[in-house]
Amino acid sequence: MAGQFKKCLLICCSRKSSTVTTKMADETYEEAIAGLKKLLSDKTELEGVAAAKIKQLTAELEAAAAGKTSDAVQTIRTGFAHFKGEKFEKNPDLYGQLATGQSPKFMVFACSDSRVCPSHVLNFQPGEAFVVRNIANMVPPYNPAKYSGAGAAIEYAVMHLKVENILVIGHSRCGGIKGLMHIPDDGTTHSEFIEEWVKIGMIAKSKVKAQCSDLGPDEQCELLEKEAVNVSLGNLLTYPFVREAVTKKTLALQGGHYDFVKGGFDVWNLNFSLSPSITV
Ligand SMILES: [Zn+2]
Repeated sequence: MAGQFKKCLLICCSRKSSTVTTKMADETYEEAIAGLKKLLSDKTELEGVAAAKIKQLTAELEAAAAGKTSDAVQTIRTGFAHFKGEKFEKNPDLYGQLATGQSPKFMVFACSDSRVCPSHVLNFQPGEAFVVRNIANMVPPYNPAKYSGAGAAIEYAVMHLKVENILVIGHSRCGGIKGLMHIPDDGTTHSEFIEEWVKIGMIAKSKVKAQCSDLGPDEQCELLEKEAVNVSLGNLLTYPFVREAVTKKTLALQGGHYDFVKGGFDVWNLNFSLSPSITV
């Protein structure tokens, strides 16, 4: 923030004095404020409008330096104030109960995409869903050396929280799935993490490409969004504690697909064959 103000100040001042601009570039913004105050006191050098502008910018710079203003912080404060007034303080029983522990029935894997928050889409209330979000809502196969983050969440949900359902939700126009679709057949990648991560769904991509090659790219992506969910459901069964709980019927696995273009939500049970949309 301070850098932005400084840049702004530099642009304004540059009209008046290039020597001042050059000098300020090497200063801290505290020094910049001091320099501007000096400029303000030396009014013979400045027009009235320019002086007022610099005075305003100086005040903003000082405010930013003191941490008084920040759009991001203001958003956080306003958001929490709304939550506290409208939710927390109006539901003392719920939040009092949650203070003692959690016992969610659902574990949910959803995409990190800002448009698909499962608590909004499925109206989960606090305490109802143990949520993991990542690029393209992937569940990696059991591998403690490679995917400990996902494994830890699944282990905690199944072994300690004893969730009754694990729901994996794909969604429309998923950028991660589109990225998976565009990985060349030789597997070369150009990103540091993204493509390697979404390759978890490579089997689904091969299936869609092989069986639906007559469809256009958008339709193939939509099918892949669903088929990748099925791969994740299969991957869940590579975790011994998941397999055991499913066998005992204390845990059910479900796939879902949220379409925010049409406003629809499909849900299906564990199914090792093609997803319903592909079999239709
Ligand atoms: Zn996505």
